[in-house]
Amino acid sequence: MTQEHLFADADSNYEESRFVILGVPFDRSSSFRQGSAEAPGQIREASYNFEEYQLEYDFNIKNARIYDAGNLDGLKSTKEVVERTKEAVAAYIKDEKFPILLGGEHTLTAGAVQAFEDIAMVSIDAHLDFRQEYLGDEYGHACVTRRASDILGIDNIAVIGVRSISNEEMKEDARPFFISGLDVAEEGIEHAIRRLLVHLKEERIYLTIDMDGIDPAYAPGVGTPEPFGLTPYDVKGIIDALAGRLVGMDVVEVCPPYDNGNTSALAARIVRMAIAAVSTHSKI
Ligand code: MN
Ligand code: MN
Repeated sequence: MTQEHLFADADSNYEESRFVILGVPFDRSSSFRQGSAEAPGQIREASYNFEEYQLEYDFNIKNARIYDAGNLDGLKSTKEVVERTKEAVAAYIKDEKFPILLGGEHTLTAGAVQAFEDIAMVSIDAHLDFRQEYLGDEYGHACVTRRASDILGIDNIAVIGVRSISNEEMKEDARPFFISGLDVAEEGIEHAIRRLLVHLKEERIYLTIDMDGIDPAYAPGVGTPEPFGLTPYDVKGIIDALAGRLVGMDVVEVCPPYDNGNTSALAARIVRMAIAAVSTHSKI
C-alpha cells in the first residue's frame, strides 16, 4: 500500500500508535447494491479533505498517533472475513491498540467483537441485522447483531436508528434492545442514549456504524438506503456520549458506486471525529 492511500494523518508507526486502522474490503453477501468492497480506499481518499485541527474538540489529529495497517487482502467468504478480522483485532488488543475497521459489509463486526472480552456493542443501523441466517449464510451482513449476541449475550447489544425489521425478526422470542430512528427524532439523541445505556451490562463498548443508519440525505451511497434516518449530529452525540467507554469501532456499508462523494466524506469525518473524541474525552 502506497503512502497516498493511507488514511490522512496516519503517520505513526505501529509500535507507537494508539489507533490502528484496518480495511476489510468484502461485499459478497450484500443484498441490494454491491460495491462496498471499494469503500476502504474511498474513505481513505476522502480523509485528505479535512484539516489536521479538529475544531469541535480543539484537538490536532497529528497528536492522536494513528497507524494505517492497510487492507485484509484476498477475502473470499463471509466466514473468512469473520475469522481474519477476529485474528487481526485480537493482535491489536494484545498490543493495547484501539482498532478502527473500515468496511466492506457489516459482516466484519461479527469477527471484531469476538476478539474482545467483557464488552457491550452499540450499533448505529437502519436494520436490526438479527436474522439467524440470510440467503443461507449465518455470517451474512443481515445477521451481525445475531452473531454478536451469540458471543456477548443479548443484554450487551443495543441498536439505534432502526427503521427496518423483518417479519422473522419480529417473531423472535428475544430481540436486542433497539431505539428507532423516529424515537430519536422525537426524544432527542441525548435522551435516547441515556435510555440505551441502561440496557447494557458491560462498561466497555464497541461501536459499529452501519452508514445506512444515517439518513440517505446525508449518506446516499450505501448498500441498502432507508429513509427517516439519523443525522450526522446524532452520530456525533452518540460518539461523544460513548467516547470514554469505547474500546474499538468500525464504519461499514459505504457503497462507492452509488456515492456522490458525500458518504465516504462523512465516513472519513466520523472516523476523525471519533479519534478526536476518544483522545480528548477526559477534557470534555
Ligand atoms: Mn443497515
Ligand atoms: Mn447493518
